[in-house]
Amino acid sequence: MKNHLSDRINSMSTSATLAMAAKARELKSEGKDIIGLSLGEPDFNIPDFIKEAAKEAVDQNYSSYSPVDGYADLKQAIANKFNRDNGLTYGLNQIVVSTGAKQSLANIAMVMLNDGDEVILPAPYWVSYSDIVKLAQGVPVEVPTSIDTDFKMTPEQLEKAITPKTKMMWFSSPCNPSGSVYSKEELEGLAKVLRKYPNIFVVSDEIYEHINFRGGHVSIANIEGMYDRTITVNGVSKAFAMTGWRIGYIGGPEWIAKACTKFQGQITSGANAIAQRATIAALDAPISSIKFMIDEFHKRRDLVLELLGEIKGFNLNVPEGAFYVFPDISSFFGKTINGTLINNASDFALYLLEKANVATVTGEAFGNDNCIRISYAASEKELREAIARIKAVL
Ligand code: PMP
Ligand code: GLU
Repeated sequence: MKNHLSDRINSMSTSATLAMAAKARELKSEGKDIIGLSLGEPDFNIPDFIKEAAKEAVDQNYSSYSPVDGYADLKQAIANKFNRDNGLTYGLNQIVVSTGAKQSLANIAMVMLNDGDEVILPAPYWVSYSDIVKLAQGVPVEVPTSIDTDFKMTPEQLEKAITPKTKMMWFSSPCNPSGSVYSKEELEGLAKVLRKYPNIFVVSDEIYEHINFRGGHVSIANIEGMYDRTITVNGVSKAFAMTGWRIGYIGGPEWIAKACTKFQGQITSGANAIAQRATIAALDAPISSIKFMIDEFHKRRDLVLELLGEIKGFNLNVPEGAFYVFPDISSFFGKTINGTLINNASDFALYLLEKANVATVTGEAFGNDNCIRISYAASEKELREAIARIKAVL
């Protein structure tokens, strides 16, 4: 049948993380013993005090549309959080609550980008950045980094990538997929370049800020000259294990917040009311209430590095945050393992899925085709078993 779909959707790729998770689910339902290390989703339950807040909100009949940009008391909780954790002062008119940080990012792209505007993406970058940018008719400009620089972009690389068409730079720290964390000095280096180009805006995706094993998360908006042109993106999916509740938010210049509100006013009417009420409880709680999760991720990171380090051909950085490892497995390219020729990272990930029953994600989805991403948001038992299987099939 003729394809009646728009060019827009035809040219968009399917989210590789979600596609791999769906494939793993499908194989599992067929009875295969799949260990899913593809999706970046905490395997903890939502803390009870957050569940209680949601139940109360149901009983209190929070059943109508909320204000498009979020309840005022939630925005106040977000403002307090920005102040407490990031030293950033955002007024309520600078904050917008959305249906996950993913929608926050989509809002930003739709309100900031014109046809042909370039967006610098230090690669590896989170899987959806490039497609969101393209959907808004922007042009992703990938700046490749490698394990040699801990997958971080240097100021020189940034400056080289800037053209008269550069409109924005998007990055995450801690980074999905590499786990790299930019230090204050490294962010200052990038900001020094950006100060020379006052028309470039920054999206700072800080959704993993609390899952940081080196401590001392730094927001680029806090660095001289950056506040007025940074949009700080965050959400509750990762720190509070609330992925399915779909709450993300931004802090940024008022005119951008206003535009995002206008946009989502035509698209979603605002985020889910019950989840917004529960988010107040999450953000008001002291960070100590989620420390157990962070400690557990730290332990697992060490375990995974130790076990993967025993496999010949895996070249690893030491991720300082998030819950992913991003090994460079290019030493396997061009080799035939048990009759299967491995030409690239996708072949490698597929080989692990088919032969070891372990789901990972190809680095190609994140703009780096020498690596695969392994999420260690899984139990120690599963991680040990998965890595033993990987070792066995290699
Ligand atoms: N940014 C990064 C770096 C992520 O890993 C994710 C994971 N889902 C998101 C944004 C989106 O998060 P959510 O939409 O669940 O808030
Ligand atoms: N951010 C998570 C990941 O990278 C969840 C999946 C998604 O939202 O694409 O796996």
